[in-house]
Amino acid sequence: MTVPAQESPEYVRTSLAAAMTIGKVQGRFYRDAKLYCINILLTYDEGCHAKCAYCGLSGSRQTEREWTENSFIRVDWPVFPVEDIKQALHDGTCPHVERVCVSMITHRRAREDCLTVVRDLRDVIPHISVLITPTIINRDWLERAKEAGADKVGIAIDAATPEIFEKLRGRGVRGPHKWERYWQTVADAVEIFGPENVGIHLIVGIGETEREMVMAIQRAQNLGARTHLFSFFPEEGSVMEDWPQPPIGAYRRVQLARYIINKGIGSAHDMQFNERGQIVSFGIADDVLEQVIADGEAFMTSGCSGETMDNACNRPFGNCTPYQASVGHWRNFPMRPSPEDIELVRQQIWDYSTEYHEPEVDSDIER
Ligand code: SF4
Repeated sequence: MTVPAQESPEYVRTSLAAAMTIGKVQGRFYRDAKLYCINILLTYDEGCHAKCAYCGLSGSRQTEREWTENSFIRVDWPVFPVEDIKQALHDGTCPHVERVCVSMITHRRAREDCLTVVRDLRDVIPHISVLITPTIINRDWLERAKEAGADKVGIAIDAATPEIFEKLRGRGVRGPHKWERYWQTVADAVEIFGPENVGIHLIVGIGETEREMVMAIQRAQNLGARTHLFSFFPEEGSVMEDWPQPPIGAYRRVQLARYIINKGIGSAHDMQFNERGQIVSFGIADDVLEQVIADGEAFMTSGCSGETMDNACNRPFGNCTPYQASVGHWRNFPMRPSPEDIELVRQQIWDYSTEYHEPEVDSDIER
């Protein structure tokens, strides 16, 4: 018997955190973190036609598992009818949710299906982001996405330099993506959606220096786009499954620099770097730096805002395991860090280790 395909636009995948939030999967988040944005992903039996080396959805992934079982930003993505998500947003299952994000993949049907899903959801939620694939859309499509009901755009540039982009997403993996096209789409999206409504995704730890990452964040800032920062996490079966996570110190410094740049407190051009490209000065007064660190927002997930929250898209455990969080190695805090968290973060900022070491402590949380 043939099982009917569960494909977009009728079906989508949700992050595991989103599946828990809409009541489809049982479970509790460590420290009772809550998810304020339902992240959904278009789905096709053929999968994604791109081949990005770090991605769990990549067409080049070396796994025996079916595409629909794969993970993407560390977590599993089960498939549900769009109707189920609408129902949960409508019936009060998750009243705290302030945003939905519809993510495309590189597939010829994704262009139209993304708009169909946005139109379908706009009756139940006023804030919808589209996380787009510049390779398969154009300026006209961006206008249509806005008309369909999207209010924000995310563009996953991911790599900080053209060389790394080319190696991991372009010619290096026989992938279709082009660096210049991605940045041109950022500029077009800012013109169409407005400066506060466009964000780029960048992944720390895929071969760049801190200096290169900070310059990419500043480039986006100069265009009017904010940066949503991710920490590399090796996806099983991807080309980079054995690549290490970035050192915690490197990630903290880039988080801090991103916040300083995106909030207009300082600029990459005033920051100082050592011979390894590590940040040694953030280029702002000591007392201002101390205020930024103590406030803690710099270390929270950077994502699209919602009705009441600056970072509604907070993706708990998108980039670290619950064990790592339990030993103070959250990469992106999904909630405001506690004073104890900040004490640890303060030490991590000035840790210049060049490799990541996971602490060994007694913990009843599985690694
Ligand atoms: S930050 Fe979150 S809501 Fe915004 S585009 Fe990225 S994944 Fe989507």
